[in-house]
Amino acid sequence: IIELRHVEKHFGDLHVLKDINLEVDRGEVLVVIGPSGSGKSTMCRTINRLETIDSGEILIEGKPLPQEGRELTQMRAELGMVFQSFNLFAHMTILENVTLGPIQVLGMKKEEAEKVAMDLLTRVGVAEQANKVPAQLSGGQQQRVAIARSLAMHPKAMLFDEPTSALDPEMINEVLDVMVKLAREGMTMIVVTHEMNFARRVADRVIFMADGQIVETGTPDEFFDHPKTERARDFLNSIK
Ligand code: ATP
Ligand code: MG
Repeated sequence: IIELRHVEKHFGDLHVLKDINLEVDRGEVLVVIGPSGSGKSTMCRTINRLETIDSGEILIEGKPLPQEGRELTQMRAELGMVFQSFNLFAHMTILENVTLGPIQVLGMKKEEAEKVAMDLLTRVGVAEQANKVPAQLSGGQQQRVAIARSLAMHPKAMLFDEPTSALDPEMINEVLDVMVKLAREGMTMIVVTHEMNFARRVADRVIFMADGQIVETGTPDEFFDHPKTERARDFLNSIK
């Protein structure tokens, strides 16, 4: 459903993505691991065109990424993205945050959008917060709202870029639990994370990035128990 072919990206002199080739199948959970600066976020951002690429191709369901306009907006809605920071609209209530996209982009009626939003907020366990503004919620609650907001757009896949790394430890699991549930329900997911237990539990495949390259690809057991490269071994030792 998502395919990157020979993707190259520079920031000035810095070569951040080097010949990235990747295919993510429908229903697959791909975990992306690697040291800081290895290009994990940049790769995620190229997939929904928050970053342009220098060369190569990115295909979604076999079709090239739209360059601009309505089709690009549509495509972004179809690829939900959840970041480290929660990115909720601060001046809107939780309910308004979740209904905005469905109303404005999908053309849904307000009542229907609210019904869908309340179902989703219930699913992620924050329904009772619906009429508050983001600042009144904990980080873990805000991140679960961000996930619900993405889900409201009926995404074909979800991209998570270190969704728990800004959270206090006691809130990490409530967000991971929502992600585990999503994975079990068959959502296609790309997850950049340092949460190794999560990776072991839910990843179908792990890729290890270093210096802008995909250095290893394997099942979680292969990667964590038998890393093939020195780089991966060093990285795994450094985070233990
Ligand atoms: P982290 O684990 O710290 O999030 P990462 O693997 O996500 O790291 P990226 O954020 O993709 O790494 O960054 C890859 C490299 O590109 C880094 O050296 C970073 O400084 C650089 N970089 C990222 N975004 C930009 C930008 N907009 N302009 C210039 N350089 C950038
Ligand atoms: Mg990053």
